[in-house]
Amino acid sequence: MQRLAAIEKQILTSPDQQISLTDPDSRSMATSGRGSGVVGYNVQVAVDTKHHLIVTHEVTNVGTDRSQLANVAKETKTTLAATSLDVVADRGYYSSGQILACEEAGITVTRPKPMTSNSKTELRFGKQDFRYILEEDVYICPAGERLAYSFTTEENELVLRRYSTNACQRCAIKQSCTTGKERRITRWEHEHLLETVQRRLDEHPEKMRQWRETVEHPFGTIKARMGATHFLMKTLPRVAAEMALHVLAYNLTRVMNIIGIKPLMAAMRA
Ligand code: SF4
Repeated sequence: MQRLAAIEKQILTSPDQQISLTDPDSRSMATSGRGSGVVGYNVQVAVDTKHHLIVTHEVTNVGTDRSQLANVAKETKTTLAATSLDVVADRGYYSSGQILACEEAGITVTRPKPMTSNSKTELRFGKQDFRYILEEDVYICPAGERLAYSFTTEENELVLRRYSTNACQRCAIKQSCTTGKERRITRWEHEHLLETVQRRLDEHPEKMRQWRETVEHPFGTIKARMGATHFLMKTLPRVAAEMALHVLAYNLTRVMNIIGIKPLMAAMRA
């Protein structure tokens, strides 16, 4: 009990309220199961859609993917010396700030929007049930009412505009919309970027299949080679070095499969 009490003190003083006794750098990684996690590392890869080669990769101990998109995308663009880049990412990478950072760096993003709204999960109207009219800066709600701009707030460094109407009190379908006095819709100052990202996906739904086929190829191959133990090293720098070797081995065998060993040897000597 004394030992556990000492560990508890350590946990409470650590910045992220976590300690790992096996490997001090490993952290709990969010998984798809609610409230569950796997202790380990977060590996990000950028894979080209034509040859499935890993263009760039990064190992972190950040528990979610939300803040990873812009860094990896920018690194990929630099590695490829490209003037523009189309990126397809999965649902976990949804952060408004990251999408803005990509857009500013000349990177177009396609990815699905997560369903985070409580209303939608509780079967009330979600934000997507409200139509935005750009020219008039209003939202039209499912009852046909206009939600006009009412005030602006700042949250997590995002400037958010709020829209509302005073028609909610006498609305016949209010119980399907809000449990409060009135429904409010929030619009980020750069929301048009998120709408463009969504539109890209609506116009090309096949992109998510392409994403799965592309990114699962290297992950599947590398995991099969790693075996059940996955990383053998401990601490972030060593795990990063281990991963870099796996990526190198994957890319080399991939190129051998694509162009053959002799042309690869010749290209390496040139
Ligand atoms: S509650 Fe308000 S926002 Fe919701 S449908 Fe009715 S009028 Fe529109």
